[in-house]
Amino acid sequence: MSLTLTAPERERILAKAALFAPPSNVLPDGRRDLVGLSREELLAEVLVAGEQKFRAKQLWHWIYHQGVTDFSRMSSIARPLQEKLSEKFVIGRPQVALDQLSKDETRKFLFKFRDNEAVETVYIPDPIEDRGAVCISSQVGCTLSCRFCHTGTQRLARNLSPAEIVGQFMAARDAYNEWPSPKGETPRLLSTIVLMGMGEPLYNYENVAQAMKIVMDGEGIGLSRRRITLSTSGVVPMMDRAGEELGVNLAVSLHAVRDDLRDELVPLNRKYPIKDLIAACKRYPGASNARRITFEYVMLKGINDSETDARALVYLIAGLPAKVNLIPFNPWPGSSYETSSPHAIRKFADIVMEAGYSSPIRTPRGQDILAACGQLKSMAPVNPAIPAPLG
Ligand code: SAH
Ligand code: SF4
Repeated sequence: MSLTLTAPERERILAKAALFAPPSNVLPDGRRDLVGLSREELLAEVLVAGEQKFRAKQLWHWIYHQGVTDFSRMSSIARPLQEKLSEKFVIGRPQVALDQLSKDETRKFLFKFRDNEAVETVYIPDPIEDRGAVCISSQVGCTLSCRFCHTGTQRLARNLSPAEIVGQFMAARDAYNEWPSPKGETPRLLSTIVLMGMGEPLYNYENVAQAMKIVMDGEGIGLSRRRITLSTSGVVPMMDRAGEELGVNLAVSLHAVRDDLRDELVPLNRKYPIKDLIAACKRYPGASNARRITFEYVMLKGINDSETDARALVYLIAGLPAKVNLIPFNPWPGSSYETSSPHAIRKFADIVMEAGYSSPIRTPRGQDILAACGQLKSMAPVNPAIPAPLG
């Protein structure tokens, strides 16, 4: 696709996203949820309520820095104003409908929203260091039906709002009591975001972007863009925009090196073939040797895991600051693929590494609770013998 074709295509994608818009942030009782508003929108609410400008800054701090959900805990705000605010507004959180802990400490939440739609969010603690990543969903379901992905079997119900996207992270922090202490220590456990949960983030670009701007705001949660990775199945026209506006790390779900195979595994390839995808990666702003593009490659036995594939992969990404994450296929109920053998994965990794690219083999995390890559779906567990919910 030429660059000139990209702008109208982008408009078409944004118009389609609007058809799956999330419900309003006003509760049935008329109160508005302040979570998810941009700084400008929050200021507008404060001014409409007849309050002074600096109150917006105070609210922002309490909501996003301290993680407070109750106006009565905002000690810099006098009681009468706390009461007035609580009559007009709420500071919402998704509801924890299910909370499961894997034997490897990975924790999966099923978060339910006000309209009863739900998504899964996963916290993946680092096995060595005292930190971890929160894997966030961007849509309820997905319109793309990648053949190896459980989410892909769930029809798109709707897009998530900025409040629901940032709310997954905030609710996960609540669960670990990971907000700064009054002494000001910074939270470490939940310090990275990967947009790798349910849905295609670039098909819900505007809401994802607003949520990430909130997360990156230095006076609130304050995560740097280097701590955020957005994974896309290859929505080429939106990649440039995400790079320019957000500058977050990019992960691309490649999974095949030939169009005929990728057409089958990642059907979006029929629209944006490999050549265009790689060109978009080459243009991606901010990609450098210090900030590489991650190519995700699911290892499917006998499908995409040959040595010829590995060599073709290296050829394809030549010249790009890249690394390749090899993800052993995670099975799910009804899936029709098998995971490549450890030997085939090792061999594949070696070829990529010898060509000068880092090629880590991702250890599956949380498989016992269907929390690993591609296993998420908005549903209760299939296996009743699942560990009891925490807390
Ligand atoms: N929709 C986005 C982000 C979510 S998926 C995307 O497709 O990139 C996160 C990663 O898990 C993607 O690379 C996806 O292709 C991969 N994945 C999906 N199903 C999988 C499975 N069953 N086993 C291993 N990885 C899978
Ligand atoms: Fe959607 Fe990503 Fe799953 Fe494909 S891999 S169906 S784009 S969530």
